Amino acid sequence: MNRYSEIIATLALTLIIATLPGCAKTLPSQSEFVLGTICTVNLYDQGSPEVYHQIFDRLREIENRMSANLEDSELDQINRMAGIRPVVVHPDLIDVIQRALYFAEKADGAFDPTVGPLVKLWSIGSDDERLPGEDEIAAALSLINWRDIVVDREQGTVFLERPLMRLDLGAIAKGYAADEAGRIIRAAGIKRALIDLGGNILALGEKKGGAPWRVGIQNPLDNRGAYFGIAEVRDKTLVTSGIYERFFEYDGKRYHHILSTQDGYPVDNGLLSITVISGNSIDADALSTSLFVLGYEQGKILAESLDDTEAIFVFTDMSVHCTSGALEYFTLTDTTFSLIQD
Ligand code: ADP
Ligand code: MG
Repeated sequence: MNRYSEIIATLALTLIIATLPGCAKTLPSQSEFVLGTICTVNLYDQGSPEVYHQIFDRLREIENRMSANLEDSELDQINRMAGIRPVVVHPDLIDVIQRALYFAEKADGAFDPTVGPLVKLWSIGSDDERLPGEDEIAAALSLINWRDIVVDREQGTVFLERPLMRLDLGAIAKGYAADEAGRIIRAAGIKRALIDLGGNILALGEKKGGAPWRVGIQNPLDNRGAYFGIAEVRDKTLVTSGIYERFFEYDGKRYHHILSTQDGYPVDNGLLSITVISGNSIDADALSTSLFVLGYEQGKILAESLDDTEAIFVFTDMSVHCTSGALEYFTLTDTTFSLIQD
């Protein structure tokens, strides 16, 4: 998908969230293209230009530090110094990399922030996307290992031990950014807000009058904005990873952007999407990708082992499976899918 169709599609999703039956009338929200996607913040009747400004400035700051694509982002400097020397970076980046390492360990490397060489090789979602050769994939895989990241909190440095290694925080940075937006909003004394960073949603507080937010969950087979179920939540984040987000097609086969650190190809395990509902967005973002790569059986075990974490798994056969507590929030609305309770 190119940038413009992505913008239009994401705006459609935002509209769906705002117009689900039972949603309160809203004042205009603010949307900007940042972090590689459309980001929308709605502060309802408590929105002021200053707070909106502060939030979007912070999102841009996070992008400038953590983007793998911006030349001279702090992340880019770490990557360019791979195998050469440690780089001093802002504590933001140390925090996110340490959280990424935590999930890399939990997911036994299925989630791995050193996936950068593979992401760059496929370049899915960019003008350079292509089907790489076996030898190129093998070379990229040999550079991936989260254990070769050295973080020195005291010195404030990050070092990649081997030349050509490359960090990519695409699976976690938006979650961190959503949490940061939430922190600014709370610090401003604002009690309710919806933050949507390209489908990475943080719903703060509850609706005016005390009802929960009703958030549509993207139907992975339909246009952006079409939902197959609804989650009713207060103070929760919802993050979805799916095969529809960024992909290209070649010879009738779809190649999407969530990559297996085992074989180097887009993960092909019968899953169409996975949605995580939890209390903080950085964890939900890392987990949505982790659970997708792990697949249903191992993914469910990991999700069940964590506090305040539920997940909804959608399969190519149109079945929907959930963790044990997910139905406290989630209702299936599209009957072309079937909810299977194991
Ligand atoms: P979205 O881009 O829709 O937010 P995800 O949160 O699932 O979706 O992140 C996907 C991105 O994460 C990819 O575009 C890539 O940058 C990165 N990525 C892909 N595969 C992995 C992996 N196995 N581990 C960690 N990051 C990954
Ligand atoms: Mg993610």
